[in-house]
Amino acid sequence: MTTMTQDAVIIGGGISGTAAAYELARSGASVTLVEKGSLASMASGWTLAGVRQSGRHPAELPLAQAAVRRWETLSEELETDLEYRQEGNLRLARTPQEVEIIARMVEEQRALGLELSFLPDNQAVRQAAPALSEAVLAAAYCPTDGHANPNAAVYAFATAAERAGARILTQTSVTGIEVTGGRVRGVQTTAGPLAAEAVAIAAGVYSDQLCAAVGLNWPLSITHVSVVQTAPLPALLKQVLGVANADFAGRQEVGGRLRMTTATGPWTWPEGELQADDVQPPAQSLGQIIERASLVLPAVAQARVARVWGGLIAMTPDGLPVIERSPEIEGLVIAAGFSGHGFCLGPVTGRLICELVKGEEPSLPLAPFRRTRFAGMTAPAAPELHG
Ligand SMILES: Cc1cc2nc3c(=O)[nH]c(=O)nc-3n(C[C@H](O)[C@H](O)[C@H](O)COP(=O)(O)OP(=O)(O)OC[C@H]3O[C@@H](n4cnc5c(N)ncnc54)[C@H](O)[C@@H]3O)c2cc1C
Repeated sequence: MTTMTQDAVIIGGGISGTAAAYELARSGASVTLVEKGSLASMASGWTLAGVRQSGRHPAELPLAQAAVRRWETLSEELETDLEYRQEGNLRLARTPQEVEIIARMVEEQRALGLELSFLPDNQAVRQAAPALSEAVLAAAYCPTDGHANPNAAVYAFATAAERAGARILTQTSVTGIEVTGGRVRGVQTTAGPLAAEAVAIAAGVYSDQLCAAVGLNWPLSITHVSVVQTAPLPALLKQVLGVANADFAGRQEVGGRLRMTTATGPWTWPEGELQADDVQPPAQSLGQIIERASLVLPAVAQARVARVWGGLIAMTPDGLPVIERSPEIEGLVIAAGFSGHGFCLGPVTGRLICELVKGEEPSLPLAPFRRTRFAGMTAPAAPELHG
């Protein structure tokens, strides 16, 4: 292991960390990314991978809009087909109460400048997506939303980062962040120490633990989501689907498989190291996904299930991430707590981490994402749409 001091070490090989490694390396910085498992082995692999601006909190909308502009040309930039499709997002109403929620959401989001329309009845919805059922009463439609292949995106960022000179270490854990005299000096890893001028924590559900070990405490709670993926089906659906109360979401992947998720549910850390089985979906959640999906998309009932898995979501008290350069520890950058919507933001998170590491003025407004806003807060945010 090298003892040469690098410009930056990034902890975490999900979309946030790999995008940051790419941005830093191509800006000329020396950078090593450390990932404890394989790339995309946690949220960035478990994800539904919707690339969505609609339904975003006003503070997050500028980031999501900037991310979508970036996704539009990202396959070309990273020289890999990311299976990005910009074919819209439909958020469905299944009851009269949900119709009101959706109508209000459309009004609020249009006022923020987002291109979003209200499809007021079943006919309008089925004109946009003919495979949907009569149970759908109305929908919000955002034509510039879409989806992508999450594994392809993470690996493409990592490969492009390596091409630009970054070093990527997988199957290597960061066991501690070195801080002396109020500034970071590097990290300890299972493969030895790495000295660095800056350290970026993009470690998903482990980010608060890494922060706590250097005295920075902030509230992160972990929720669980179940995912069902079918065998390939004929083309059924272009848009990503969500629902007003966030208890179902789904999309058809480029190869024809449906990838569908349920609402978030409770989850607690096991004793000792996390094992793959600790994240697997509870049996009853699988029935819920199929039932809710078939109600709006009847073809699901006949589909063959190919895979099921579970995923963890790192929720902050207000459902917004932390993206900051720590005011307490010089050289420490934190980008975590994406609360179920960090896949879309990934390309922009990477750029922001790069700017923060280099001490540059961030290119997007980051005041709402400071960790100090949590002073005195403990409760998690109400579950909302992941995707
Ligand atoms: C089921 C599900 C559906 C979702 N749907 C969407 C969606 O449709 N759209 C959307 O935008 N977002 C969605 N999300 C959220 C999105 O996937 C995440 O916000 C995003 O992937 C977070 O990326 P990340 O790189 O910050 O974290 P992660 O992908 O979790 O990566 C963090 C990495 O850090 C590594 N790590 C942790 N600790 C250490 C350590 N000590 N040393 C070394 N490595 C370490 C982990 O192994 C992990 O690989 C969904 C999430 C889930 C679970």
